[in-house]
Amino acid sequence: MLKDDLAKLLKLQEIDSRIFDQEAEAGGIPEKLKERQDALKAKQDALHAIKKKAEDAAKEKKLLELDVDSKNQQIKKLNNQLNEVKTNKEYSALQQEITHAKEDVLKAEEAIIEKLMLDDDIKLKLAKGAEEVKAEEARLKAEEEKLTAEGKQLEEALKTEKTEREALAAGVEDKKLLARYEQIRANAGNGVAAITIVNNSCGGCGTMLRPQETIEIHKFTHVVECEDCGKIFCG
Ligand SMILES: [Zn+2]
Repeated sequence: MLKDDLAKLLKLQEIDSRIFDQEAEAGGIPEKLKERQDALKAKQDALHAIKKKAEDAAKEKKLLELDVDSKNQQIKKLNNQLNEVKTNKEYSALQQEITHAKEDVLKAEEAIIEKLMLDDDIKLKLAKGAEEVKAEEARLKAEEEKLTAEGKQLEEALKTEKTEREALAAGVEDKKLLARYEQIRANAGNGVAAITIVNNSCGGCGTMLRPQETIEIHKFTHVVECEDCGKIFCG
């Protein structure tokens, strides 16, 4: 009887809707995992950038230290020369040179101190960055475990639902009606093919039905599809 078949289709729809949702959820798992992997990558990149900054700062500091060394040697040399000059003019020129070199040393030493202070700042940032990477790694691991468990659970649930659906589908007598149901479902974005009348309207699209249509549908003498959304009225 058509009425029985339509009732079975409605039950089938219930299961199929659950399968539809579960499959969508299972399909979303790789994306969720990728989100966490991207978050970890961002933290790793940030830490890498700080490390690079630390290396650059160390190089600059080394250069400044070399500069101070060479300037100090120059000052020593100039001081020695002071003892050998003959004229006042030469003497004051040398002294001026020494003064400039000393100023340069002072400047370089100030820059080194600045770098040392920056060093502390970078060290703090490095420690913080490393901590954040570690936390993100833990988060990823937890998410992986959670999603793997969820995936397994979904797989099990889907297996059960599909076995149930096969049995129900086999019980539909009108195979043409079943094929029609499958066809509509495959084409519908939400996987829905079987609907009922809800408040004198189509349960699929909400279109108001004429009283005559409602009567026709409830006679269950032939299959009625919604004129607007094309879904099958099952009651
Ligand atoms: Zn409709």
